[in-house]
Amino acid sequence: MQEYITNNFEETQKLGEELASELRGGEVLCLEGELGAGKTTFTQGLLKGLGAEGPYTSPTFLIMKEYEIKDKRYKIQDTNKSKIQNPNDKIKNVYHIDAYRVGKDDMLNLGWEEMIADPKNIIIIEWPERIENILPEKVLRIRFEGIDENKRKITFE
Ligand code: ADP
Ligand code: MG
Repeated sequence: MQEYITNNFEETQKLGEELASELRGGEVLCLEGELGAGKTTFTQGLLKGLGAEGPYTSPTFLIMKEYEIKDKRYKIQDTNKSKIQNPNDKIKNVYHIDAYRVGKDDMLNLGWEEMIADPKNIIIIEWPERIENILPEKVLRIRFEGIDENKRKITFE
């Protein structure tokens, strides 16, 4: 378990951006925390770090937003050969899901099973509690807690 305190939204975005370099594909990230805790802010940094093209709008009214990764990340990190040896390692798509208003059936209808089975995908879920019963066994849980107006505690489990 790792714990971070951020003092403004930029620091939260930066933390998301840093996590991006640790991801290899196939990860399901569950972002937990109250409204305004910083889940979407963190995701914006994560998307940037992954090389997804903006704008990084909140998917609240869309349920899900899909981003295509166009090898950008690998070009930037070209010198790090270990990252480009295995082509299956490449992240192709990132799905940012806001499950606040959805249920398990909505997700299944959106192609959930195929989405989580593909090792080239990264899945980021806000309000994972809403679809707990269809989450895979192995997920990365990240908890967001408001300490005060601009301070957040972010815990990686
Ligand atoms: P959530 O997706 O969890 O509902 P958002 O990321 O949409 O939350 O909103 C967080 C709000 O809190 C934003 O308006 C952001 O500017 C503000 N904020 C202030 N301090 C922080 C911080 N340290 N980390 C993240 N957001 C912060
Ligand atoms: Mg949000």
